[in-house]
Amino acid sequence: MNYHQYMPIDVINGPGTRATLFVSGCEHQCRGCYNQSTWNPCHGHEFDLQMQQQVINDLKDQRIKRRGLSLSGGDPLYPGNLACILALVKRVKAECPDKDIWLWTGYLLSELSIVQRAIVDYVDVLVDGKFEQDKADPSLVFRGSSNQVIHNLAQKR
Ligand code: SF4
Repeated sequence: MNYHQYMPIDVINGPGTRATLFVSGCEHQCRGCYNQSTWNPCHGHEFDLQMQQQVINDLKDQRIKRRGLSLSGGDPLYPGNLACILALVKRVKAECPDKDIWLWTGYLLSELSIVQRAIVDYVDVLVDGKFEQDKADPSLVFRGSSNQVIHNLAQKR
């Protein structure tokens, strides 16, 4: 898996202070996509074990406490990203159990494959649905268009 950008400290993408990873790879081709460069799974940099360790270190950092990890893109549930994202969310929940995981995807929760669902099992909050330009609303919090839904999965478990 490649990633577009990693923000070790982020207060925009999700609640509280977070670490945020924007992955490469997306097949949704939403009209008005804010970053088409992320569609190409080869874009950006390789998310290697060193980067995985960096995320864990940042979540464990006691000087600047992060509430959790945000996974966006691109699409973290893009088929080519699944193995790497599954390994990451498993590790976060095993080593940083007090941190929440938010994940943004263009796929619908109701239509996820078995492998995508295996990842979502570790996710606290899933924001699903493509970006729809005619439903875009800058006043929305944590989503770009009104068709997208914030699913608080942790609350339902
Ligand atoms: S899901 Fe996100 S990254 Fe993918 S095309 Fe839509 S807006 Fe762009």
